[in-house]
Amino acid sequence: MKPSPQTPKIDPLKVDVLWLNAIFLFSTPALAVLGLIWWFVRVPFSWAPIAAAFVLFMLSGVVITAGYHRLFSHRTYKASAPVKIFFALIGAASWQNSAIAWSAHHRRHHRFVDTDKDPYNANRGFWYTHILWNCQRSEYTGDFTNVQDLFDDPILAWQHKYYWPLSIAFNLAIPIAIGLYFGDIASMLLWAGLVRVVVGHHTTFLINSWAHFFGDQPYSSENTARDSAFLALFTHGEGFHNYHHAFEADYRNGRAWYHWDPGKWLIYLLEKVGLASNLCRIPDDMVLRRRFEANRMRMPEMLAQSAVTPDAAEPLETTASRIDEALTTLRLVRGEWQAAVKEKRSSCQIRELKRRMRLTRRTVSTALEEWEQSVQRFASSLSLAS
Ligand SMILES: [Zn+2]
Ligand SMILES: [Zn+2]
Repeated sequence: MKPSPQTPKIDPLKVDVLWLNAIFLFSTPALAVLGLIWWFVRVPFSWAPIAAAFVLFMLSGVVITAGYHRLFSHRTYKASAPVKIFFALIGAASWQNSAIAWSAHHRRHHRFVDTDKDPYNANRGFWYTHILWNCQRSEYTGDFTNVQDLFDDPILAWQHKYYWPLSIAFNLAIPIAIGLYFGDIASMLLWAGLVRVVVGHHTTFLINSWAHFFGDQPYSSENTARDSAFLALFTHGEGFHNYHHAFEADYRNGRAWYHWDPGKWLIYLLEKVGLASNLCRIPDDMVLRRRFEANRMRMPEMLAQSAVTPDAAEPLETTASRIDEALTTLRLVRGEWQAAVKEKRSSCQIRELKRRMRLTRRTVSTALEEWEQSVQRFASSLSLAS
């Protein structure tokens, strides 16, 4: 699905502006640009404030991803109290609202995606989803009915209550402390404070805008969410947004090991040191089947647009049937492996089942990729013929 331009445009005269948000979100980038001009013209160049800004950007970004998004909004894993305290404090330093307020919007986005109840409805245009939604009051502003479970967590309730003092304190204290160490407080406040917050804001905002406008839809075209490996590079792994909307319970957004996703690596690491548990991984056969079904659903539409008879697509259908069968086999083998683990069967039996699962998964993945390429080639030949 592509964002539809049919939704009526918003009348700017009737918008109930959230002035504090609007002034903050539009003045901070302007101040950052002016500050950078001043810095490059008047201050002797130094890598220290740039490096500090980069480290804090990565830290606060990965906390928003692994904490605000995947832990608090989606509950894709469980975390210990020290981890939650860390996420609450560094999350406040990101200046993206309290975890509770952030999650209330985000849960509503997933539940009502692309409708008028979606706070960042892609059908209202790129800039609306990127920043403007945050500057206007809606009927859901201040509505926390969908995050009552988060209020039950004393750490999050405390962060929500003291969000403003925490934000101001952390955004001043951290750059000032680093600035004192390097002997240049003003440069640190500019780079590690202001510039880092602005860049952090807009990279997060791109997940609501770019990730619903540009990229591929391998898992579902029922909504506007898209996968972009490029976007993932500077959103701490959140660019695989089509996957995320299809499988929001998964703690990973970049499913494959080579997908850039520092959020998933942090969560995995926390599990390994005993600070996180119950990581939800959607099984490979379910993911591959979803991808397969999404592509298969597009075939009738593709044929309908061409003058070629459905018979011409028969070889593709034959291959599709074989993939269908292989996916069923993969699901059965996974079931056998899970049962063997549960029944604590011998380690050699479990290893053998795991090996079979791995081989079947590889066969299905390869066949699926070849089939998708054949479908693409077939579609191209149709468009050339017509
Ligand atoms: Zn999400
Ligand atoms: Zn989305």
